[in-house]
Amino acid sequence: MPQTNEKLVEKLLEEGRIKTEEVKNSFLRTDRSKFVPEDKQKYSYIDRPIPIAEGQTISAPHMVAMMTEELDLEKDSKIMEIGTGSGYQAAILAEIATKGEIHTIETVETLYTQSKEKLKDYNNVEVYKGDGSRGIPEAAPFNRIISTCGSPGIPEPWKEQLEEKGIIVAPVGGQRHQTLKKYKKINGEVKEQKVSIPCAFVPMKGEHGF
Ligand code: SAH
Repeated sequence: MPQTNEKLVEKLLEEGRIKTEEVKNSFLRTDRSKFVPEDKQKYSYIDRPIPIAEGQTISAPHMVAMMTEELDLEKDSKIMEIGTGSGYQAAILAEIATKGEIHTIETVETLYTQSKEKLKDYNNVEVYKGDGSRGIPEAAPFNRIISTCGSPGIPEPWKEQLEEKGIIVAPVGGQRHQTLKKYKKINGEVKEQKVSIPCAFVPMKGEHGF
């Protein structure tokens, strides 16, 4: 069982979940324990989801790694994340898109407040409170969209708020089990790419959720 953040990163590299130098460095710079609740600190470096508050979870590190790799980030990517949760995924994105912007939205008030505090030192991250199933119209358009809650499909507003050649990575399916999917906007149309990974995220609430 990994006992340090470095050991966790080593394990993710060995398993091929972390593939690129950028994602590796981002994981090394982001200590997961900062985003894990006080009473669950001892699980920080284990590759499993951890309950945070309000029945929500911080995703397993291998899932964060896979989704981050699939996003094909650039230094100046402008990203929307739906489901800030603990703020861990947003911090990972912020360490890669250092010249970009991360707009992350959370519907649960307490999680919004906590993650806003934890992410306050990142000058490229903006945390919003609201229904991310509608996207974030005031900050659109984006060239990357990542959802960390499961949705029944890709909401229309996300498609509209995505730039040409932009990428969406999101778990799509049922309330308990979904498939991690990837989409690209080509000639104005959001087309599914060849990525299909079984996963289990908490369900997305809101207008276009469950
Ligand atoms: N990215 C998070 C994982 C959070 S779990 C992390 O790294 O810790 C998914 C989160 O999505 C939960 O916190 C849940 O409250 C939130 N969520 C569910 N429906 C939502 C919606 N419609 N808009 C924004 N956030 C939502």
